[in-house]
Amino acid sequence: MDSHIPLRKVAILGATGSIGASTLDVIARHPAQMRASVLAAGRDVQALLELCRRHQPDHAVIADPAGFVALRDGLRDAGLKTQAHAGAEAIDSLAGSDQCDTVVAAIVGAAGLSSTLAAARAGKRLLLANKESLVLAGELLTREAAAAGAEIIPIDSEHNAIFQCLRSRDARAEAGVRRIILTASGGPFRGRRREQLASVTPAQAVAHPKWSMGPKISVDSATLMNKGLEVIEAHHLFNIPGARIEVLVHPQSLVHSLVEFIDGSTLAQMGLPDMRTTLAVGLGWPQRIESGVAGLDLLSQGRLDFEAPDLEAFPCLRLAWQAMEAGGSAPAILNAANEVAVSAFLQGRIGFLSIPALVEHALSTLPGAPADTLQALLAADAQSRQLTETAIAHSPHV
Ligand code: NAD
Ligand code: MG
Repeated sequence: MDSHIPLRKVAILGATGSIGASTLDVIARHPAQMRASVLAAGRDVQALLELCRRHQPDHAVIADPAGFVALRDGLRDAGLKTQAHAGAEAIDSLAGSDQCDTVVAAIVGAAGLSSTLAAARAGKRLLLANKESLVLAGELLTREAAAAGAEIIPIDSEHNAIFQCLRSRDARAEAGVRRIILTASGGPFRGRRREQLASVTPAQAVAHPKWSMGPKISVDSATLMNKGLEVIEAHHLFNIPGARIEVLVHPQSLVHSLVEFIDGSTLAQMGLPDMRTTLAVGLGWPQRIESGVAGLDLLSQGRLDFEAPDLEAFPCLRLAWQAMEAGGSAPAILNAANEVAVSAFLQGRIGFLSIPALVEHALSTLPGAPADTLQALLAADAQSRQLTETAIAHSPHV
């Protein structure tokens, strides 16, 4: 490749997770073009150390301060030059520093907001997987990114598909868009009626039929909250009103989303369900680079099916639409209640159907407020977490 192209220095926030692993896989295929300069994780020091041994970043950060000594000593014992850091502030400051030019935002949940914002404010190329930060603070984040000249490339497969469909035309592509159609696999419980969902277990919920992902997003896919979060995400990323976003269930997960234009054309992006494709788009854009993912053999796949989502069995999708329409702090309230409920479900403290019930409870109890400042959004997030924790504590197994 052209030796004049500077080496891309990539910070991977959420390096020990599913997106982190896919990112490192793609980067390792292009040693002359890019390297992982910063690796950050939540609390699993051993997993982070293992990644440091393999990828030799300049900096490693563990969010949990209790992990600092083990990280520092582990790096030293391995004879690595990687510098150890701890705490959320260290992640934010590295994400905004000259130690990287590209940031992969792959921390799960609202915990990823501040580092995502730091990268946006510093004008980085931002490979945005952390959809919760857009749901919580979409207007703020997109505004700050535009002001600083940060280039957001969506990593969520649906939004990456839409990004590709729009960019395949000209820079003013959005002008001719009639609607955006997000596809959804339907998750592991597609086709079940509401009453059949009462007793499903965490193990069944995280067993996604098509994608291999972290536990939180897997449960979100099972409740269809994931698609609800993605509708809000698309609204902010592509600056399109909710009324022009639709959801179509497509069990094969080969068509990743579609854009319909005013001239009657519909463009779709297709491929095998493997996040390395979307990460390669983000790392290489506007060039196409190898990702390790095979091409799509439609003959062997055989067929593509489409059906309408079942909002009766999966009310989370409806709740997310409502929160988006309500605007203000409502999406922040929805997201926080969902994070708490999903965590309680994964711990076996509540049943599957309590997830939508708790989200609905938070949305109907907490007053909607304007959400023009980060402070107001974080306050709504905190209130909703507390309300939902209390509801779970007072009525276990709701
Ligand atoms: P995961 O659970 O596999 O990994 C999460 C990562 O975040 C881990 O590295 C963990 O250590 C880190 N982390 C957790 N809490 C943290 C904290 N407080 N501070 C710093 N780091 C913290 O999750 P995932 O499946 O990789 O998903 C990551 C994000 O990407 C989510 O927002 C998810 O919705 C989004 N996403 C994932 C996929 C996928 O295929 N996995 C697809 C689309 C979008
Ligand atoms: Mg998605």
